[in-house]
Amino acid sequence: PPPRPRERKWPGHLTLESEALPAPFTVRKFFSRSGPLARAHPNYEFRQGQIEMALAVEAALAEKRHQIVEAGTGTGKTLAYLVPAILSGKRVVISTGTKNLQEQIFYKDIPFLAQFFPGGIKACYMKGRSNYACRQKIYDAEREPILSGLEEVSDFAIIREWEKTTDTGDRSSIPNLPDSSTAWAKLDARAELCTGQRCPSFDRCFITLMHQRAQESDIIIVNHHLFFADIAVKDSEFGAILPEYSAVIFDEAHELEDVAGQYFGISISWNQVEDLRRDIAAVARRKNFFTRDLEQMTRLLAEHAEKFFLLFPQEEGRSGFGAHKEFLRRHGEAYRRVLSTLELLAAHLSLVKDAPDELVPLVRRLKAQKETLERYMEAADPDYVYWVERRGRNVTLQATPVNVSSLLREKVFSVIPTVILTSATLAVGGTFDYVKDRLGLDGARELIVPGHFDYASQALLYVPPHLPDVRNEAFVRAAADEVREVLRHSRGRAFVLFTS
Ligand code: SF4
Repeated sequence: PPPRPRERKWPGHLTLESEALPAPFTVRKFFSRSGPLARAHPNYEFRQGQIEMALAVEAALAEKRHQIVEAGTGTGKTLAYLVPAILSGKRVVISTGTKNLQEQIFYKDIPFLAQFFPGGIKACYMKGRSNYACRQKIYDAEREPILSGLEEVSDFAIIREWEKTTDTGDRSSIPNLPDSSTAWAKLDARAELCTGQRCPSFDRCFITLMHQRAQESDIIIVNHHLFFADIAVKDSEFGAILPEYSAVIFDEAHELEDVAGQYFGISISWNQVEDLRRDIAAVARRKNFFTRDLEQMTRLLAEHAEKFFLLFPQEEGRSGFGAHKEFLRRHGEAYRRVLSTLELLAAHLSLVKDAPDELVPLVRRLKAQKETLERYMEAADPDYVYWVERRGRNVTLQATPVNVSSLLREKVFSVIPTVILTSATLAVGGTFDYVKDRLGLDGARELIVPGHFDYASQALLYVPPHLPDVRNEAFVRAAADEVREVLRHSRGRAFVLFTS
């Protein structure tokens, strides 16, 4: 058996490393009937589809080609792309649709595979910024009154103690912090209030550390949101989130179009304007420049924003918005008031004497909100679909490209040497024509690996017709009884899945 790699703990992430030895197998050998995988796994079943997929991924990486693979349930597709990715020696980004799959790959599949790679696997797991704490905000909160209520004060005590010992700053490692903690929302590392390199805590910042870990990794596990956030900010003053990489593997690739649409689209909400107004007031109070003029301007912004956003449809949910000209004819005044107040505030803050660094992101947000609002109201681009979404008191104005194919072609497929798309559901009617057209993917190799299970003889679909309506109070009791009965028949062997 290959020597077990030495375990080393990188700041907060389990990474497996040992002497740099080449892996003593090829992709074909690894997945073969008597290969390392078969020997290591007591219940291993050889799967022809898995080896076919792994060889296709290996070829795509070696030849710098794009590959699209539909792999039915039970193929073992995660290992089928991870093994060739690790063996390629290139830096490969793995992007998933869900956090569950991200965690499964990082906490289960990579540690499992580490036993086969005497040269070690350098992998890291990157999440969005709001999952990490901002050290500077925690230090500031000790001195300045940003917390309200006993609950926030008690959550803050937990976070402050944890910050002293955590290696990653990843919220999921805090014991006892309620999911709904409002204190966390005031202390997380999202970009809106980050002063970047000017920050006194920049060198110890958890975001900086996350970037360093990624720089040292060969396999970087992200989700589609983070991947497209990186594409969106690459050319901005913030720079890229991800380091240079040679290939990206999109698992759960059927979700790509939706996520890409969100990042290539534009969005502005009443809540965002309100948050910005509150942040300006809070920073100005803390740093002693909350003059009467500034107070007056923030109050005006609140009033104008309220009048403006209330002009949109009142119904809860989403509705299309196509009447730009008519809207501006009737409500142009209300719209222009919001724009001019955003502009005035940006100009005012830019002139503050001895301005603290915290003003830089505030001015940037004011300008960005003005620009987004203008684009939404005035561009009326026929390639975008415009809509309004009302949830409770909040109103969001959003525009999404009708077709993301040209954007994906330009920003993903034509610049990244190897892009691999995989999912259990990508083909329609036995071909990839539809998905390739929607995503702008030309010239990719294609592979359909049929499902490993014989559904016709191994599966039984049961729909209980007698259960009460799900909205009925009696539903939960009746469903529980039904599940118990099914479990009796299956002798307890079951995986019961619920919505949240
Ligand atoms: S660099 Fe930004 S996120 Fe990091 S500690 Fe400083 S303000 Fe917070």
